[in-house]
Amino acid sequence: MRKRGQGPEGVAVLGATGSIGVNTLKVLAMHPERFRVIALTAHRQIDRLQEQCLTFRPPLAVVPEAHAAEALAEALRRAGCETEVLAGPEALSTAAADARVATVVCGIVGAAGLDSAWAAVRAGKRVLFANKEPLVMSGHLLLAEAAASGAELLPLDSEHNAIFQCLPPGRVPSEAGVRRILLTCSGGPFRDTPASHFAHVTPDEACAHPRWVMGRKISVDSATLMNKGLELIEACRLFGVKPADVEVVIHPQSVIHSLVEYVDGSVLAQLGNPDMRTPIAHALGFPERIAAGVTRLDLATIGRLEFAPPDEVRFPALRLAREAAEVGGSAPAVLNAANEVAVEAFLQGELSFAAIPAVIEAVLSAQPAVPAASLEAILAEDERARALARERIDASPKRGVKAC
Ligand code: NAD
Ligand code: MG
Repeated sequence: MRKRGQGPEGVAVLGATGSIGVNTLKVLAMHPERFRVIALTAHRQIDRLQEQCLTFRPPLAVVPEAHAAEALAEALRRAGCETEVLAGPEALSTAAADARVATVVCGIVGAAGLDSAWAAVRAGKRVLFANKEPLVMSGHLLLAEAAASGAELLPLDSEHNAIFQCLPPGRVPSEAGVRRILLTCSGGPFRDTPASHFAHVTPDEACAHPRWVMGRKISVDSATLMNKGLELIEACRLFGVKPADVEVVIHPQSVIHSLVEYVDGSVLAQLGNPDMRTPIAHALGFPERIAAGVTRLDLATIGRLEFAPPDEVRFPALRLAREAAEVGGSAPAVLNAANEVAVEAFLQGELSFAAIPAVIEAVLSAQPAVPAASLEAILAEDERARALARERIDASPKRGVKAC
């Protein structure tokens, strides 16, 4: 357990303006005696970042470009706020490694959060991972680095946070009588939609998740079920289990956030309303419990909890992710890179929803897995996969739907 000092614990929120960032700040605002916001970062919504700086008065903020940094610093100064504003991707790592920061919340989306996540782990911080893509790409190396630096990795992804809560503390699952992990999945907005409709799905439809309000990229991943595929790999990385030990279960109510089955037949589950403030508060307070401000779970009103197997024919992304996890090496990073490019193309109206898994499968076939023994090797494969995905998208018929 990390020793806490006398004063409030310093927290850096990377991706503060996103869904995870905003929920994190809601929890932090409930515990001003316990936490102090040291750094906030944003990519686009600089107005929202400005409001957050005025509320939390962090010593540090990070934006992508120098002119935006100057403008924000000036606006904050005029409002009597002395936040130093840094610019550029390297500044994200500076914020993550800042000596005043004990806990880093990784809430950036995609591989864009990789360097800052690594900086936090290298600096031996308590690192709260929502940003699953760096774990999928390089989780095996991140865990080894954490062992060397003393960093503590805690999952914010609701399923992995649930699994973490159902596992015995500090034990390797295989040595603690764990038989398998059951990863729950809402099924997304197209759970009951025939595959024949997938060619006509618009970004707005794909982003309308029935249970969770999230950023655009993870919303599309939830619609293709690639999110569950990435989470399967994330579970293997975080808990040291094999892909065959992780079973995906469709659970439309999103009340059970995941389960752990033991050899004696016991199955432990973590339940709660679908509200990211619960896993965020759990990880921020761990090992203590702190209030999250969420509505209490009312099982009698919910009435029924349903379960079904996933349909990997209608949702091939899940199969592709499982295969990539089994192949190992660079395959998870290639899958992730191709997915990021394909999802962005879909959101921009360049690719149909149905073609997303097809692009990923084509890239995985064209780029056989190589060992992923270093971050450099992974990044080289990531770059190659992005170029291949781009080529494939450029060669496919144009979609021309409005972006969400
Ligand atoms: P979001 O799109 O709402 O927010 C993303 C944040 O990252 C924003 O603050 C944005 O400014 C920042 N960002 C985007 N591109 C960036 C770049 N190139 N450089 C620096 N910053 C950049 O996304 P989200 O829904 O909050 O998801 C964030 C991460 O958390 C994703 O990896 C997602 O898979 C994971 N996650 C999200 C949820 C959820 O409920 N939203 C749940 C579990 C896991
Ligand atoms: Mg999740």
